[in-house]
Amino acid sequence: TDASPTYKRILLKISGEVLMGEQGFGIDMNTVKAVAEEVAEVARMGVELCLVIGGGNIFRGLSKAAVGMERSSADYMGMLATVMNALAMQNALEKLDVDTRVQSAIQMNSVCEPFVRRRAMRHLEKGRVVIFAAGTGAPYFTTDTAAALRAAEMNCDALFKGTSVDGVYTADPKKDPSAERYERLSYMDVLSKDLRVMDASAVSLMRENDIPIVVFSIREPGALKKVITGQGVHTVIS
Ligand code: UDP
Repeated sequence: TDASPTYKRILLKISGEVLMGEQGFGIDMNTVKAVAEEVAEVARMGVELCLVIGGGNIFRGLSKAAVGMERSSADYMGMLATVMNALAMQNALEKLDVDTRVQSAIQMNSVCEPFVRRRAMRHLEKGRVVIFAAGTGAPYFTTDTAAALRAAEMNCDALFKGTSVDGVYTADPKKDPSAERYERLSYMDVLSKDLRVMDASAVSLMRENDIPIVVFSIREPGALKKVITGQGVHTVIS
């Protein structure tokens, strides 16, 4: 199983909800640790890693918690939530001796670095994992789109989407037992069938830049390593 990685540099997108584990809200440190172990394993293989973590476990702009708030303000709160998740992940990675830098799209210099593309490149070359926080820095976007944007900017070979399901299915496998997993899909399939893997702007950006999206389960121990070497259960959108 010591196959060499198919992808040299990837951006891994994890939704905030993954980090809440079995809780209904917030950050479950044991889950963060488990995800960090997955990341550390592939970092040690020499894969260059960028991370984007969502904020949905804490706050979403378009949620009940934000009713009555101005959309932009609510979205800024959502972006701040992603910074908390990024710091939790940085901490967990550094406990595993993985050098990590957090770069935020909203400057907060006493907490983390600002996003500077060239500096992020340098971190990757030095073997550091770079966590991009605060999404795109703009309201009305999602962290999926932020992940696609950074994947393109950082010349990543693939955008890995770690979810709680091990790929893209014909229907929701948690509700419909006859749902089947796609091995491969085209970007257009995802857009025209309205398969909700990632939002349409993220998928379009990956299509324009010819960067494959790899959907897999981040909850399955060892899956990230397997998928990065072209094995394991996943769906490739290209
Ligand atoms: N957000 C935003 N601009 C961005 C990224 C995120 O305004 O570029 C806000 C938005 O309110 C979103 C929240 O941050 O609901 C959390 O991100 P997201 O919902 O994408 O997190 P996930 O679903 O991946 O946990």
